Amino acid sequence: MKQEIDHSERAHHPLGASQWPNLSGCGAFKYKETDEYNGEAAERGTAIHEAAEIVLRGGEMPQIEADMSEEADWLVSQARLLSGPLEFEKRLEMINSEWETEYFTTADLLCRDQFLIVDYKTGQLGNYFAQLCGMALPLFDEWKTELINAEIWYSRLQYKAKYKITKSIALKVFEQVKSNYETKTPRLCDSCEKCHFLTTCDAVNGLVNNIVNGREDWNLKEYHASRILEPVEMSKALDIAFLMNKWVDGVKYHASKLIGQGVEIPNYKLKARAGRKSIIDGADVKGLLDLTEEEMKPAYNIGLTKLYEVFAKSKDLKPATAQRQVKKILEPVLMESNPSFNLTKTTK
Ligand code: SF4
Repeated sequence: MKQEIDHSERAHHPLGASQWPNLSGCGAFKYKETDEYNGEAAERGTAIHEAAEIVLRGGEMPQIEADMSEEADWLVSQARLLSGPLEFEKRLEMINSEWETEYFTTADLLCRDQFLIVDYKTGQLGNYFAQLCGMALPLFDEWKTELINAEIWYSRLQYKAKYKITKSIALKVFEQVKSNYETKTPRLCDSCEKCHFLTTCDAVNGLVNNIVNGREDWNLKEYHASRILEPVEMSKALDIAFLMNKWVDGVKYHASKLIGQGVEIPNYKLKARAGRKSIIDGADVKGLLDLTEEEMKPAYNIGLTKLYEVFAKSKDLKPATAQRQVKKILEPVLMESNPSFNLTKTTK
């Protein structure tokens, strides 16, 4: 059975729940033009959403890249663990006491029997609590409940973030979102980094101004990053930026240490990030997966640092000598990826 689902037709409301993580911080927020809404990542995410929905509706997995179908498969497997009827891509509408639409939004998956709403994410971990509040709010009356279970399913990480949302909390978040949206006052928040106005925003520039105040050598003619065009001014701006970076890193480091020692810092906590998985040395991956040598070849990725160590040990050489010899012997089969460029300060 072949089924086509076109998510690109999904209508958006300026106050739709997907905007809440940004609007709950700053009402003037606007996505950068090259953001996840327009780029390759967005297309990938849409394809995974669509594939999961097709399969859950009884269709066949569409022809998509293997890693994408793996993510869609995981979403499907999680949805199948739920008991009770499921609804997909459900449009939710918030109506006020005047019978006007406050906003509408779309939920990826609903399971009323479990008072559960789910949003799929194909990217990195993030703070999507406000978005879940926006999805939950229209459902409290419809489902006749005061508490909704809300989950974000991260398909790439195969991880579920779970929340419980009460109507009063969802309403509070909505009031904040609405008032920010109406006043449009720039307010520094977690979304600044992905905001279209980052380099020209008065709130951001005001912060820099406060920091450099009192230091004449730090004063710039212009604080909007996109308007610093003189090389000497840009060099001064970079001095300040690098200094601020060190301060930022220092604050984060010491705050993490304090929390690790049991100190409670309002609005912040330490969140564990799963470690990167790798295969233990010498494991018979080919045998375990029942793959031929030819099939395995593209998956081999031998780290040079490890190879230097192995060679030094095998030939009883000093590490530097082993490194030199390996590079010389392997020269015909070595390849180098494109260089990347880092801004570094010169001593002159
Ligand atoms: S850069 Fe300015 S406008 Fe954009 S989110 Fe931050 S404070 Fe708001």
